[in-house]
Amino acid sequence: MKDTFSISESSITFDSLRKELSRDKPYFQELYNADILVLPYKSFKEYNSPVFSEETESFVYHAKNELLNKPANIELFMQDDKYEELELHADTVNIPLLIWDYLVHPIAIGLVVNYVTGLIKQRNQQVDIKLESIITKNEKSRKISFSGSINDWKEAMESLPKDFWDDDILNGNPRIIEDEEFKWLADRKSEAVRSGDETTANEVWKIEQISGIWNMYINAFSTLKEKSNHQEVWNTLAQIEIKIGSLRKHYNFSNQYKLLFIESTVREFQKLFPYKFFTSRESIIKETRCSICGQIRSLRNPCGHIKGELYNGEMCYREITDIELIAIALVSNPVDKYAVINIQGKEYNYKLLDTFIENLTNPFDEWKVDIIKIKDPVYKKVGRNKPCPCGSGIKYKRCCMKSGNDMMDHFEFSLQKDMIKPDLIGKRFIL
Ligand SMILES: [Zn+2]
Ligand SMILES: [Zn+2]
Repeated sequence: MKDTFSISESSITFDSLRKELSRDKPYFQELYNADILVLPYKSFKEYNSPVFSEETESFVYHAKNELLNKPANIELFMQDDKYEELELHADTVNIPLLIWDYLVHPIAIGLVVNYVTGLIKQRNQQVDIKLESIITKNEKSRKISFSGSINDWKEAMESLPKDFWDDDILNGNPRIIEDEEFKWLADRKSEAVRSGDETTANEVWKIEQISGIWNMYINAFSTLKEKSNHQEVWNTLAQIEIKIGSLRKHYNFSNQYKLLFIESTVREFQKLFPYKFFTSRESIIKETRCSICGQIRSLRNPCGHIKGELYNGEMCYREITDIELIAIALVSNPVDKYAVINIQGKEYNYKLLDTFIENLTNPFDEWKVDIIKIKDPVYKKVGRNKPCPCGSGIKYKRCCMKSGNDMMDHFEFSLQKDMIKPDLIGKRFIL
């Protein structure tokens, strides 16, 4: 049999089923706890109780057994007598229509594969499968129809989650990646490590990093909208830069997952913060430990792991175990952007940021800012040889005109839709 594989939009989701089906019927109650459902192809709602053929029943038994220690429930909603006769064709196994939540995708694939592999062994002959499945995610669902060999189905299905995930993100629907999803990724990574599949483990690391970047960026955006915790946002933006930097070594991204957008927009946001000076630490790192093997590093005793490289889905970094601080310097272009100087009694002015953020509704709105120097209005009409308005007592041309203290930053914003000039005159900074 030639493989056929097709994907189409579906209107069935767990939510739509729950709405449609009455809780009164005992066999519908289970629906509320299910992650995987076995559905009839048609008209099952007219039956008083679910009816199903032998093979379907055996599949459900198999599935329930397999799921004993896994975080998923399977439930049966079945009326597939139409397919009963087909089961007699020994070379094609008809798996009933399955619907599952995206989060249990790998588990569901495993169930079907194990079931069919078992049958093949039992019958001692190759069989093809015919299967329709619906995968739901965030109220959306896709129907996947397949007929062909189980191995091809497995391969096709395993390549799906990424597409599903892409879809959401590439459409620019800002959304926080949930803990459950991180857990799912972590599980896949452990599985890969256990089976010695380092390539997959490292792929999962990339997805984890991208998800982390997304969450940080979306959180930073909403905190900015709340006009609170500016310094925390600043730190988050600095972390995003670092994460993107380490990801780039391993992942050649164009604008997939909007990473380039996030990277450049982080820089634009940073321009709007009033921080101009940072502390910088000069120090000697005396001893470090490898994060992969835990060994103390020395020239004589290299552990073989390279900083920044991936090992079994983790990036190697150095933990500093001994450091000697030599000096703290005040710098304007720091390596470490966290070290914002806070002076007691002085508050930073975030008016520029707070005013501008009003213009944005979505973290993925496109905008940029150009900073140009304009003359401070106070100095506009002052003659070169007149006393300097700053009150120093010397001539303007020898004072602020020479030092550039008479110029100020002017921020020009361009937004995706139209160019606006909200006339946001930024103060230099208030320290
Ligand atoms: Zn090591
Ligand atoms: Zn002056």
